[in-house]
Amino acid sequence: MPKPKNVLDGHLLTPSDIGDVNRSRVIQAFCDYGPLSRADLAKMAGVTRATIGNIVLGLLEAGLIEEVEAPERSGRVGKPARPLWFGPGAGLSGAVSIESDRVQAALVNARGDVIDEAEGTFPKDATQDAVVHVVATALRAVMPRPAKDVLGIGITIPGVVDTATGSVMGSGQLPMLRGTKLSDEITERFERRVLIDNDSRAQALGEKWFGKGRQVQTFASVQTGHGIGVGLVIGGVVLRGPHGEAGEAGHTQVVQDGALCRCGLHGCWETIATLDWLRAEASRMGMKGSKTLDAKVLAAQTDDASRDLLRRYAGNIAIGFANLAHVLRPSLFILHGDAARGGETFRRLIEDETRSRVLPHIRKSVEVVTSDLDVRAGLLGAAGLVLSETFHLSI
Ligand SMILES: [Zn+2]
Repeated sequence: MPKPKNVLDGHLLTPSDIGDVNRSRVIQAFCDYGPLSRADLAKMAGVTRATIGNIVLGLLEAGLIEEVEAPERSGRVGKPARPLWFGPGAGLSGAVSIESDRVQAALVNARGDVIDEAEGTFPKDATQDAVVHVVATALRAVMPRPAKDVLGIGITIPGVVDTATGSVMGSGQLPMLRGTKLSDEITERFERRVLIDNDSRAQALGEKWFGKGRQVQTFASVQTGHGIGVGLVIGGVVLRGPHGEAGEAGHTQVVQDGALCRCGLHGCWETIATLDWLRAEASRMGMKGSKTLDAKVLAAQTDDASRDLLRRYAGNIAIGFANLAHVLRPSLFILHGDAARGGETFRRLIEDETRSRVLPHIRKSVEVVTSDLDVRAGLLGAAGLVLSETFHLSI
């Protein structure tokens, strides 16, 4: 059988090539389930075997998918059907994660493999032009030349981002980018479609495409540390709201007349469920090393005071989870950042504390897991942004 033509070998896959609804459903099935045979695909994408044959042929010819090795099955006679999946050079995206003083860039394929990576740094008082220059330089280092086989570029930013217009509405960590039409700036340099999103939402998208959010319709991806970032996927769609302003769960008030939050309000969930709270509480209790304490270090302690503090820290995180579970009913909470680094003991505590705060009929469905994607979740989410848009998927 001739080898399917690789997308890098010349055939450019444009969005119009793959805009068809049935194709989108097949691609969605690959995203959700990984490699699949034609028979599996027909069942999972909800289309007939005949339709599958045509769609698969088109995707093979376009170089988006290829036949991969069948998994070993013991005790079976005969050759199993060879599954199909995204080709290693297919569905390429440029991915950028901008943080408070650095830029990470990567080239990612539709399987979620990071093919190349680069990094750049900038001072905290850098100008807008300087930051855009660092982004462009890091991207240039990972983009293939020519870049025509790259479907687009996804960029994530800690701040309020209007994905629909590509504008940065505001960012506490990157004040110089406020009001920038960052997507236009990068589009001009690379002549590729550019999509931007908030970092927490991108992390959720990374989970939906490549992590524990696969096949899950409604879930919350939660990053804890010095702040709380929540990305919500509701019914398979990332919640953005008007101008990208939805999802600020960290600033819902959970303590009346509580501590001042960095946002200017009082008693936000962030003020009791982050490292700043943990360290202040440890200091108040006279614990050694309170200034650098985190969930991982605390979870390794066995004395009663540490155990109690760990449980209260988990409880404070669980307050926000329980509120989200009641309003939006995510069945799954995926931990990132400090909460994830707390390991299995901390994960179980958060799960137990959340279950104890929700109504009985949803108690069993609450599940808390740690992300497998770790620090790459945002970058993979940036790629997921491009893939979702290109393939017209609901995510
Ligand atoms: Zn706040």
